[in-house]
Order: sequence, then C-alpha cells, then structure tokens
Amino acid sequence: MRTSQTLVSTLKETPSDAEIVSHQLMLRAGMIRKLASGLYSWLPTGLRTLRKVENIVREEMNRAGAVETLMPVVQPADLWQETGRWDAMGPEMARLQDRHHRDFVLGPTHEEVITDIVRDEIKSYKQLPINLYQIQTKFRDERRPRFGVMRAREFTMKDAYSFHLDQDTMDATYDSMYAAYCRIIERMGLAYRPVLADTGAIGGSHSHEFQVLAQSGEDAIAYSTDSDYAANIEKAEALALGERGDATAEMTLVDTPNAKTIDELVEQHGIAIDKTVKTLIVKAAEELDAELVALMVRGDHELNEVKAENLPQVAKPLQFATEEEIRAAIGAGPGSLGPVDLKLPLIIDRSVETLNDFGAGANVDGKHYFNINWERDVALPEVADLRNVIEGDASPCGKGTLKIARGIEVGHIFQLGTKYSESMNATVLNEQGKATPLIMGCYGIGVSRIVAAAIEQNHDDRGIIWPDAIAPYQVSIIPMNMHKSHRVAELAEKLYAELTAAGIEVLFDDRKDRPGVMFADHELIGIPHNIVIGERGIDAGNIEYKSRRSGEKSDVAIDDVVSFIQ
Ligand code: ATP
Ligand code: MG
Ligand code: MG
Ligand code: MG
Repeated sequence: MRTSQTLVSTLKETPSDAEIVSHQLMLRAGMIRKLASGLYSWLPTGLRTLRKVENIVREEMNRAGAVETLMPVVQPADLWQETGRWDAMGPEMARLQDRHHRDFVLGPTHEEVITDIVRDEIKSYKQLPINLYQIQTKFRDERRPRFGVMRAREFTMKDAYSFHLDQDTMDATYDSMYAAYCRIIERMGLAYRPVLADTGAIGGSHSHEFQVLAQSGEDAIAYSTDSDYAANIEKAEALALGERGDATAEMTLVDTPNAKTIDELVEQHGIAIDKTVKTLIVKAAEELDAELVALMVRGDHELNEVKAENLPQVAKPLQFATEEEIRAAIGAGPGSLGPVDLKLPLIIDRSVETLNDFGAGANVDGKHYFNINWERDVALPEVADLRNVIEGDASPCGKGTLKIARGIEVGHIFQLGTKYSESMNATVLNEQGKATPLIMGCYGIGVSRIVAAAIEQNHDDRGIIWPDAIAPYQVSIIPMNMHKSHRVAELAEKLYAELTAAGIEVLFDDRKDRPGVMFADHELIGIPHNIVIGERGIDAGNIEYKSRRSGEKSDVAIDDVVSFIQ
C-alpha cells in the first residue's frame, strides 16, 4: 500500500478525552475515529489489524472443528420472550420497533437465535455434536462506554455455540475451545491468563474467562503464585468463602428508600463500592447512615429466576445483616434457597437502571432484583483495597499465595447446560428415539477489544509496537527524499514490488514529507520492520533496517532484503 493511496490520519497531540494508552494511540495512529459515544469507525489502518485478529480467530475456530455461520444483528423480541430474557435484560439491551410496531432487539448476544436455528435444523443425535460460530457486530448499550473500542456499544465479537446430546462431548468441546482460545491469544503474542469465572447473566455452570494482563484492565483477577489456579476476583472469593457446587450467582435487592446510588456515593464520599471490598462497604454504611441493604446470595444460578420470590421478605432494611439473620428472615434452610452463602451487606441502590449492567434480573411484586456486575464500579486505584481483603491467604487451591492482577477480559467460555434448550424446546431424538433437550456451550471473544488489549501490552512513548501477527503491515519502506533522488525512488519501487510479490504487506511511504515526519508516523503506527532507503546506503549497496521493537538498526545488502525480512 502506498501512503499516497490510503488514509494516513495520524495526530500529533493526544486527544484529551482518551484515558488509556490504547485509546490514545488508536486515535493518534489513525486507526479509529469516534462517531458518537461507544460508536467507532475503523479507518483503513485499524481495519487491517481488526481483520488480522478476525482471521486468527477464524482459523483457530475452524481448526477446532467449529463451523462459520452468520446471524442477523436485529432479532425478534419473541425469541427473547421465550427464554425470559426480554424482561431479564436491563437497559443494556437496545430495543426497537418496526413500522408495524413489532418489537425487536439489537443483538447483545445470540443464544436465542442460534437455539432457534438448531431446534429447527437438528433433529437427530446423529447430527451432534455441532459447534457453530460467527464473527458479527454486537450492540450493548453500555452504561459507561469508555476506553474506545475496549468498552464500546457497537463492537465485533466472535461467538460460538455448541450443542450436545451428552455431557462427555460437551466437556470435550469445552476443552477444545479452551485450547483454541489459548492458541488464539498466544498467536498474537499476548500475555494472558485463563481464569475461573462466574457465569453471571448468561447462566450455566462451568466458565472461564481469558484475561489479557494489563494495568488498565477493568477486571481484577486472583492467582496463586505456586499453582495454575487463577480466577476472577468474584469467583476466587466465592470459592474461598466456601461456595458449594460449581454454580454461583449473586442477587442483590435493589429498592430501598433513602439509599444512594453508587455514583452518588463515589462522588460524595470518594468511596468506591465493590462487593469484595467489605471494609469499604462498611465504611460507606457508617458514613451514610443509610438504610442498608440486605442481601447477597450465592448459590444455584437458578436462583435468578425461580427463587426470587423468597426475597421480598428480607426487603426490610437489615443493617449489616448477618447470615443467620437473613437466613431466619427468609426462612431459608439450605434446601429452600439452594446452597446459600450470605456474606456481605450491600448498599442498596434505587436507580436500578444505572446498576443493571447486562445482568439478569427478576421483577417480583413490582420490585426489581438484579445481578450486578460490580467490577464495573471498581475504580482502578481500589486494587490496593482488594488486595488488603484477599491477597495473602492461600486460595482455594491451598497452594502458594494469592495475588491480585489487573486484566482485560478478551474471551469468555461457558457451559450452559439445558437452560436455553429447555426454555426454547430444542430437543433431539436420542438413540432410543426419545426427545432429549440439547446440552449447550457458548464461547465469546471480543475481536475488536483484542486490538485495544494488544496495544495496552505493546507500546512505548513513540507509539504502538505491533506483534507481527496482527500488524496492519509487516514492513514499511521509508525512502529519504525520493522526490529528489531518482536512485532512491527506483530502489524503493523495486523493493516494494519484490516484497509485495513475496506476500509481505508493505506500507510504502511515497509522500513528499520530511524524513522526520515519516519516521514519527511509522513509529506511531507501529509497523514492526522498517526499511530506510537513502543515497548513502545505495552507494554502499545497502538499505538500513530498523526493528520497531528493539530499535536496533542494521545494514542489509540490497539483494538480501526480501530473504532478510522473510
Ligand atoms: P465485560 O465484563 O467486559 O462487560 P462481558 O462479560 O459482558 O464483558 P461477554 O458477554 O462475556 O462480555 O462477551 C464476550 C466477550 O465480548 C467479552 O469477553 C469481551 O471480550 C467482549 N465484549 C463484551 N462487551 C464488550 C464491549 N462493550 N466492547 C467490546 N468488547 C466487549
Ligand atoms: Mg458486560
Ligand atoms: Mg465480564
Ligand atoms: Mg464475560
């Protein structure tokens, strides 16, 4: 590609509204431009990297036996009504009507659509297992879109869904997706950890997140120094506190007078609230003298839907309720609420909308109950407080010391059991000819988020340093004063043609700019290999090669350039 043909829209100044380095550099390098909050256009350079990531994901999904498909972004509401998620989804799901006043959603995820396809198309166990995926736009009306494409409202996700007759093939596919996710992230050269995760709004039993390690990450993960144990903070804490079974869910009562919103708390008191930060919650309660809340339950995820009717009885303010008090209030033995572990008094929040962050919820007697993704509300400096609470104890695995790190969730895999197939009646005939609900798994990767996550790990003060696998171009050709030197121009054209013919992606800087401007742009854009062509080098039969990552320079004989680069 010639710079004269494409759009090289680099910026010298750091845009003031970009908080983290990847967002700043994506804007400065001309990869993306903001259209509106959480909505970004991909400019040519950015799109090349996005496509690289997509292709790595696609190759590894295909290699793992998944099959590509493509489903609409706009989905009819009736499918969401079938699973109950039309009501359970909060304002993060964007809804619209067509001209006939029929309800639709902009798909935040595609479990309903794929289950609808599979129940029509798959009739016999002989067609199973099957794993279908797509790379498609998702829309989530995030409460606080930020960090550019890292937390956008419209973004690209690879989502795969597998269907099984039996748990053994479910486990095998889950393991192969786990391995594929590791390969995907490793091919891009990123440092990451797979961590045990809560299943949250999507439901299900068994779940891992893939966290790219970065200080700017919004998630906190706990890992053991001496074993492979790693979990996101919520899961680690749940395990440490003795969660029973392998399902977990949390439910917070959200509707009490005199309560403040989380945002108000943070603003007024400088207090950040996180369910793991017990000390801060207690402190907040003291300072506010608010009617406090009640309840956080851990147990079977079914609680989200079915057990909510038990909860209104504890809606009376239970300030610092103990587990015994709450158990007494709801009359819950372990049986009636599943394996309940109550732990924390939480601040109640009246403004349900601001809290419900793509969480499942329930509406009982006019009161709203929501799952809350608390991690969203943890300000970055609060890691230190999390650490006070958790770090230092041996973890659930009993080995080593638990440490806390920051991560960016780039992937998330779940076993969903029969949650969707039962509510949507997706069955197949088993060997005995009996209709059996399909067992389902789902596997998501934030394709566009990975681009930003990669930059968080690969940059310096001059710009992006792309790992080769996802660089928009592998090589840049920077000719010095080519418009004055016929020899430089000729060699630049020749190398451009040869490298391109060898299948190497080259950005050939044929602008009439000063060399300093060109160098700065190529460093900002982060192209891994730079070839500088000048009169003096030509006299010696060389070009100058410079590695973006190491900064090292070397002279390479003109005839050896292609093989040197390859
Ligand atoms: P988060 O916790 O960051 O809100 P999530 O748990 O809601 O993410 P999933 O439903 O697990 O997201 O979706 C699968 C993947 O999609 C995530 O692992 C993430 O990489 C990506 N993703 C989710 N929300 C966004 C977003 N708003 N912008 C960009 N990527 C996103
Ligand atoms: Mg989310
Ligand atoms: Mg998450
Ligand atoms: Mg997730």
